[in-house]
Amino acid sequence: MPSTAERIQKFGFKRWYERTLIESHAYLVTAFLGMILAFAAIELIGEHSGATHLLLGVVAAVVGTAIVGFGIQRYYRIWMLAESFGDRATCPQCRTYAAFNVTAASSAPDEDAATAGSTWLKVKCRKCGADWTM
Ligand SMILES: [Zn+2]
Repeated sequence: MPSTAERIQKFGFKRWYERTLIESHAYLVTAFLGMILAFAAIELIGEHSGATHLLLGVVAAVVGTAIVGFGIQRYYRIWMLAESFGDRATCPQCRTYAAFNVTAASSAPDEDAATAGSTWLKVKCRKCGADWTM
């Protein structure tokens, strides 16, 4: 999987930002589906008519809860990364938004490992040539 810097360079910042927000919200939807599974499982536990139903309910509740935790964590982390870069995507010199080339990047391999606080990009404005760190 290409790094965050490679993806921004390939797609351009605006498309990367849009795709990253869509990806983060897909994880939010995943978390919501996990919540529905967990609630359905709790109902199954409450109405169980045998050990098999009880076991199935407990397993589904655990799986649903795990999906909620996973989805919420991914949603938040990816969304924060996009927002963090979005806040710094304007050239400090000419105020042009999202028109830059990536010249260097921190070593975070991709959005899975990147976090808003630990990931940076050194970029160069395509309009005026100013350098700044995102
Ligand atoms: Zn500029």
